[in-house]
Amino acid sequence: MKALIVGGGIAGPATALALAKVGVESVVLERRTDAQADDGSYFSLAPNGVDALRVLDVFDLARDDGFPTRTNRMVGATGSFLGALSLGPSLDDGWVGLTMKRPHLASRLAAEASRRGVDVRTGVSVTSVGDHGDHVSATLDDGTVLRGDILIGADGVRSLVRTAIDPTAPPARYVGLTNFGGITRATPLAADLVPEAWEFVFGRRAFTGAHPTPDGDVVWFVNVPEPAIARSVRAATTDDEWRAKLLELVADDAGPMRELIAGGELELAGDNTYDLGHTPVWSRGRMIVIGDAAHAPSPSSGQGASLALEDAVVLAQSIRDTSSVQDAFAAFEKARRERVEKIVAAGARSSSSKVPGRIGRVFQDAILRLVFRYAVTESRVAWIGGSRIDWDARVA
Ligand SMILES: Cc1cc2nc3c(=O)[nH]c(=O)nc-3n(C[C@H](O)[C@H](O)[C@H](O)COP(=O)(O)OP(=O)(O)OC[C@H]3O[C@@H](n4cnc5c(N)ncnc54)[C@H](O)[C@@H]3O)c2cc1C
Repeated sequence: MKALIVGGGIAGPATALALAKVGVESVVLERRTDAQADDGSYFSLAPNGVDALRVLDVFDLARDDGFPTRTNRMVGATGSFLGALSLGPSLDDGWVGLTMKRPHLASRLAAEASRRGVDVRTGVSVTSVGDHGDHVSATLDDGTVLRGDILIGADGVRSLVRTAIDPTAPPARYVGLTNFGGITRATPLAADLVPEAWEFVFGRRAFTGAHPTPDGDVVWFVNVPEPAIARSVRAATTDDEWRAKLLELVADDAGPMRELIAGGELELAGDNTYDLGHTPVWSRGRMIVIGDAAHAPSPSSGQGASLALEDAVVLAQSIRDTSSVQDAFAAFEKARRERVEKIVAAGARSSSSKVPGRIGRVFQDAILRLVFRYAVTESRVAWIGGSRIDWDARVA
């Protein structure tokens, strides 16, 4: 069997690696060029994502490019402590989460897939896909037509494959937050932050996060509740102008963000954040969508990449354990849909807590303290990061 995989982000190369374990050959088609492999900021994988990397035998590669994260600490605009939550139950050897540059995970997975014999092509755009009954095809922007037995859309929230499978599929939803990310190198502020933890501040006008690295840098992000930023505005705004905007937004909040922004490099600016809840149809004939193309939790969930990695492994298991493409896709959907849709819903709630209304803003700290004491607790969210994959178990 040969799989055409559209998208070389996280789900795409991870699926190629998983399919190789069950003897399926793949081609990964990615629009980004190798020169763009550094564009983007940092993110964290929860223990369930780390577990999936281990199933694929690529955890060591990712770990060498990242650092451990155990906890999210929540702080109010005045600096008062609101609560703390681990990224999930630890793995057998004590590992919890892994923080690294988002594009680096994609490029490391792709490089490893290539090393293991997968045909990975970067700088190619898929312009259309087709299911022809006994085979599938993908047409590239240079006119090349590739042929395979199955086609996997791992092409992200604006998936072309999702629309090819179901032209009435709902589009992704803007969650009301723009995102900025950066790094401040060799800063004494790193020593003021708790090691192996994100410090999240529910600020007056923005939600921020900062994480010290083992090298003495601090990586950080700012989420701004505001309308989506147009591409033309993004293109016309300089880093200094973005920095001035961010400094104004965090001006009245406690914590190190002002100095981190003032002395840091912007790695991501004016990124609009989306989610995708219920996509009614995941597969048709020989084509299927996975990862963000099928179900994108908002970045606030901290789960999108981990779910994409889980999908990759479960899809390969489904193909291994069934005797037809249709049965495999049905088994995959049965194993995945309920879990991922619950996590997208949880992510939407967590995004909206970053955008409080006027009344919510007044009582924000008091409300959040109660939320982290009674509603969002370790035991209540353990099912998210505590999920583990048994590679040898048959997919029901
Ligand atoms: C700012 C931000 C912060 C985030 N933080 C976290 C976090 O802390 N933890 C977490 O788990 N998740 C986080 N996420 C979400 C996570 O990045 C996604 O859920 C994850 O990347 C999904 O992987 P994917 O492979 O499905 O999609 P993507 O990573 O989006 O990959 C899709 C790929 O398909 C390619 N592509 C699209 N169309 C075509 C085409 N026609 N032809 C060829 N290639 C195509 C794209 O170039 C892209 O590389 C964050 C997301 C954002 C935006």
